[in-house]
This record gives sequence, C-alpha cells and structure tokens, in this order.
Amino acid sequence: MVPGGTGNEGGRFVNHGADNTHTHTLSQGRNLSHGIKSLIVLGLLGSMSAALGLISITSGEDGGVSAAHASPPPPPLATTLFSAVEFTPVSATPVRHSGELKSRQTLTELVTNLGASPSDAAAALHTIYEKELLDPRRLRPGVKAETFIVDGQMRALNVKADADRNLYITRNMSGGWSATELKARLTPSYSRVAADIETSIYDAARAQGAGDQQVVDFASAFAYDVDFQREIHRGDSFELVYETFVDERGHPVKTGDVIYASLDGDALTRSFYRFAPSDDGVPDYFDQNGESATKFLMKTPINGARLSSSFGNRRHPISGYTRLHKGTDFAAPSGTPIYAAGNGVVERASRYGGYGNYVRIKHANGYKTAYAHMSRYGPGVRAGKRVRQGDIIGYVGSTGASTGPHLHYEVYIKGKPVNAMKLKLPTGRKLVESPEMLKEFIARKAEIDGIRSNQGARLVASNPLQAPPTP
Ligand SMILES: [Zn+2]
Repeated sequence: MVPGGTGNEGGRFVNHGADNTHTHTLSQGRNLSHGIKSLIVLGLLGSMSAALGLISITSGEDGGVSAAHASPPPPPLATTLFSAVEFTPVSATPVRHSGELKSRQTLTELVTNLGASPSDAAAALHTIYEKELLDPRRLRPGVKAETFIVDGQMRALNVKADADRNLYITRNMSGGWSATELKARLTPSYSRVAADIETSIYDAARAQGAGDQQVVDFASAFAYDVDFQREIHRGDSFELVYETFVDERGHPVKTGDVIYASLDGDALTRSFYRFAPSDDGVPDYFDQNGESATKFLMKTPINGARLSSSFGNRRHPISGYTRLHKGTDFAAPSGTPIYAAGNGVVERASRYGGYGNYVRIKHANGYKTAYAHMSRYGPGVRAGKRVRQGDIIGYVGSTGASTGPHLHYEVYIKGKPVNAMKLKLPTGRKLVESPEMLKEFIARKAEIDGIRSNQGARLVASNPLQAPPTP
C-alpha cells in the first residue's frame, strides 16, 4: 500500500501492455472530463516535449470530445501550461520537476518525490490506471514523469508511458483530475551506418549513431555464420540500415528493426534483408538468394563471449594430459546466459562429473549439443523439456573441473564429437521453394535496396533473383 494511496497500484488492470498501446486514440470522449468544454491547448514543456506536438481538443455535437493532432508549426516551448475559459488563468509560472522511475520504486513515490503531495500523486495516477491507460504492474524503471507545481500544489502531471505516448493529467475546477493520452504522430524513416571495422562493429556502429539494439540485431543475424571474436578483422567492413521514427518536429524518438545487415570480411561476405513471408509471418533475415540466416544450430550459443579454447588435441589445464578437447570453450563472465543452439528436447540437466552443471539437448537428425560448467540452469530446464533455439538453458559458471568461468560447448553427430566451429550446418528456410514467397521477397529486397541507395549506398550489381514464371 502506498502512503495516502488508493490501493490501486497492482490492481485489476490488465491487457494494456506495450503490444497494444498503439490502439488507443484520443477520440474517446469518455477519456475527458465533462468539465472541459472549451478549447484547451496543451503546450508541453521541456524534455517531455520531444514526443509531442500541439494537441487541440474541442467539444463534439453530442457532448463527446474529439481531438486531433494539429499540423505544424510546433508550439513554442515553455509557453503557458494550459489555458481554458473555465480555468483560472495560471498566474504563477509552474515549476517543473522531472525524474525517472527507479527499480523498486512505485510511480506514486516518484511523483511524490517530484513535489506532489502523496494524496495528489495517488489521485492523479488513479485516473490513468482507472482508464487503463497504464498498467502499474508493467511499469519498468526508466519511465519518466514530470510534475508542474504552482504554490506548492501539483497542477499537472505528465507520465511518458512510451517513446511516443504521454499521459497528461490535469487538475480540474472541482479539484479532481482528468487524464488525456497524447500520442506523437511518428513518421518512419531510416538510418544507414557503414564503416570499416577498426576496433569492433559495436564501436563503429555506435560512433555513427546506431543503438545497442541495432548492434545486437546485426550480431544475431550473423550468429550462425560468424564467430565475432575470432573471425572479424581490422579492415573488414559492414553496413547496417535500420528504422528510426521521428516526431512532428523531426526529432528522432525511437529506433526500430534492422532491415539490412551486411558484412564484407575475410571470413565471410554476406548480406541479409529483413523479411516476413506472408505465409507464416515470421520475420527473419534472408540473403540475396532468399536463404534464411537462421540455421539448424547456432554456431555460438552465447553472446559476447571470447573463444578461449578450440576443438582438438591439447594439454588439459587440470589433468595435464594431452587429449582430445571434445568441445569449444567460450570465456564469459559468470552468469552470462547460454542459449539452446537449436530446437530439441533436453536429455539431461544435472551434475555430470568434471562437466559440473551440465545440459545436453537432443536435436533432429542425430545431432546433440552439450553445455558444461554452468553456474545454474535456465528457468524450467530439466530432462524431457522441449526447448526452442535461443531459449536460455543455463548461465556461465565454473562448476566441475574448470579453471574459470566459461562455457564448454560440444556438438555430437550420431554420438561422435565434432568441431562446432567447422560444422557445415543444415540451413534454414529457402524461399525458392515457395515461389509466391520468393516474389514477395524480391519486391521487399528491391524496396530495401532503394532505401539503401537513398541513404547513400552504392549498390553493387548482383546476380538478381528472378521471380519464377507464373504458370
Ligand atoms: Zn572445454
């Protein structure tokens, strides 16, 4: 229970996650209090303004209220907070306090810290919970809130629920609170990053403005083909095109999917286009021949690790004997997640001698993979459990005969250990096998190449895919 609160945090509001926030519009009359009958112009201030344009709200015929995003020009910053015929004009300039939700903090606590009384904070937030504009149980640290205080009393509160969605709560004449959802109208755009690799793809991409997520997407597209620690060299080059969304003022508000990822290096030269075939709707990265990047098994079932020992004969660091090292070692900090390299069924998830905490997965076609020295197992991982490629099956540790935290990874084909790094793996989907999907892909590929070209890419004439003749 929050001090002075209504007890609504953690309440009954469901089904309002990030997945459906885009379905809400401002046209719902019930979202606005009856007290507001006149034109209200909200010019949002300061840091919160990035995602917002001018919103005007007018009375409808039936007493309902409709709203629309006004066209540019944008409102001046730091104008009056609000003005309306029924409101007492705000004489004093509101004092603005903004802050971010910390972990283990409630939104009521944050708003109270920003100068609201506990009862005002709770009552104002209650309006957005009640309208299911925000699910208090799904709040993540980092959510921004902004209070507007006049004479020690909160007059308005803005909660930045998403990159493109603000919840604006104002005190009305009767002392109650009215909430309005303000959505930025975002325009999709694209950014392109291309560079030679000096230190790492991460550094080069970040230096040119890409975010962490874009680098992760890039790495996952290539995770089946490349060992990033061992096979990327100085002088290799890459290209990355990703979605960005800009608001009415042209400010980038958020970034989206990587739609093109290309690597031109010593180890591998390959390009991938993001495409979701309409038959299964599953987005994947396909190369220019319409072959999926996804393979039967991942080459590296762990992110950000350093290959520390390869498959082959070596002197064992503990026993001192030279013998076959049946796996590949990846050094990584303790606790780093380890992924199922492919779909399959867990055969064993238990302590196994020198292997320590050990998981073995049985895949199709006689393949098995094993993972050793884990600090602990992934959620629900036990013998008999069906896992999908990329599921977390455990975490890096140093259990068993191990000299330090690392993943020891083994691949077996029909009981025989093989070198995972040299494995020629069965491939994923090939679009040439579905002519209709191949046609879709060719169209999407041309679209993406057009975007690349607009963004300054010099397109190399490649052997273009031919759509199959229509029978
Ligand atoms: Zn090993």
